Amino acid sequence: MLAKRSAVLFLVAAVLVAAQGLPKLKPGFNLYTKAQDVELGRAAAQEIAKEYQTVRDEQLSAYINRIGKKLAAHPLAESESYPYSFTLVYDTSVNAFALPGGPTFVHTGLIQEADNEAQLAGVMAHEIAHVALRHGTHQATKALGLQLIAGFAGASVGGKGLLGQLAQAGIAFGANSVLLKYSRDAEKQADLLGAQIMAGAGYNPIEMARFFEKLEAQGGSRGPQFFSSHPNPGNRTKAIEEIIPYLPRASYTGDSGQFRTMKQRVAALKGYSEPRRGAASQPAADPASARPSGQYRQYQGRGFTLLYPDNWQAMGNQTADSVTLAAPAGVLQSQSGSAIGYGAIAVYVRDNARTALDARTRQLISELQRTNPSMRVVGTSRTARVGGQQALITTLNSESPYPGQTEVDTLVTVQRPDGMFYLILIAPQSETSRANTAFNRMLNSVRFGS
Ligand SMILES: [Zn+2]
Repeated sequence: MLAKRSAVLFLVAAVLVAAQGLPKLKPGFNLYTKAQDVELGRAAAQEIAKEYQTVRDEQLSAYINRIGKKLAAHPLAESESYPYSFTLVYDTSVNAFALPGGPTFVHTGLIQEADNEAQLAGVMAHEIAHVALRHGTHQATKALGLQLIAGFAGASVGGKGLLGQLAQAGIAFGANSVLLKYSRDAEKQADLLGAQIMAGAGYNPIEMARFFEKLEAQGGSRGPQFFSSHPNPGNRTKAIEEIIPYLPRASYTGDSGQFRTMKQRVAALKGYSEPRRGAASQPAADPASARPSGQYRQYQGRGFTLLYPDNWQAMGNQTADSVTLAAPAGVLQSQSGSAIGYGAIAVYVRDNARTALDARTRQLISELQRTNPSMRVVGTSRTARVGGQQALITTLNSESPYPGQTEVDTLVTVQRPDGMFYLILIAPQSETSRANTAFNRMLNSVRFGS
């Protein structure tokens, strides 16, 4: 009896220890769906392709893909949701990065700097972990979502800096994207999950920690690119060492034995150039590349639907109250962050406040002006019907993120029994007539449901 009980106690204790050893890592709060991670990553990958030269070497890409596939096969990588791909890009800086939904890029500099295949696999596993833990869209959500939601929780329209927050809803694509700027906490999680993933593929997780420490020891020389997007959480080796005993016992037989050969192939690559960083990492500031296509698809929001140009992306969540609709090229980088230069924002404010529509509209405009002092009202608001509801249409002008352009913002506020719906249609003045055609189509398509 006694023996039995202590066996049970022992079991309980073992489970507790195991639970402490292998942390349960869950994706953080996220306004995006998994499918939107994939969509967003695909769009961002197109921008990345403009910045980097893909290494066209069959053996190298087969090598990277073999390692990547082996890692992605780990159940925690959730490859059924994320179609991982692995691309070797020519860049002698030491880095690798993964976009939401799975597109993973390895710099040639990473292969050059790694001491063995396990270190390369370790960095790739770390990137896969960022995808599986959805750190990119979590970052994007943090940049906009929490503030938006906090704003909406208040009884009044807005909250603080509404437009600033809304502008951040536009996700910048490319290598400088917010999607690739992780917190230290996210780094720690990616190390821990990455260690499990690499162990599953037969690589010793300690090699990942060793590699990061090697980069760290180099200080400013070759490591900074990696650390600028993956801030060092500190004590990496200790954290990884602590979980190793809880990983399924592995003999670490994953090494293909090809690392040296591949490293030599990388060293012998000819005719490639380094990515054009800086200016090239920003979308071209040409409104033409963000123009509505003329074809439309439907966005299903929470309690509303509308049509939007099919070459635009919907950045938001179907269960959320706001969505940003824009072509990737319509989201511009400025010193103060990213701003929508060409696109639309739809927001459903549910606050049950019984404020008249014109008062609410004025309140919203003054909120917008507070965050964007260059914004001014043009003429007077006109009444309209949108989705069968009473609406006001107000034209505003402000400084466009397109250099030298005035922005025309069409603000459409719509009375709702439980609050207000509004749409801000944004375009540079040079695009007014083209934009208006699309905007009218969008406006006429707005429907409210339950
Ligand atoms: Zn990282």
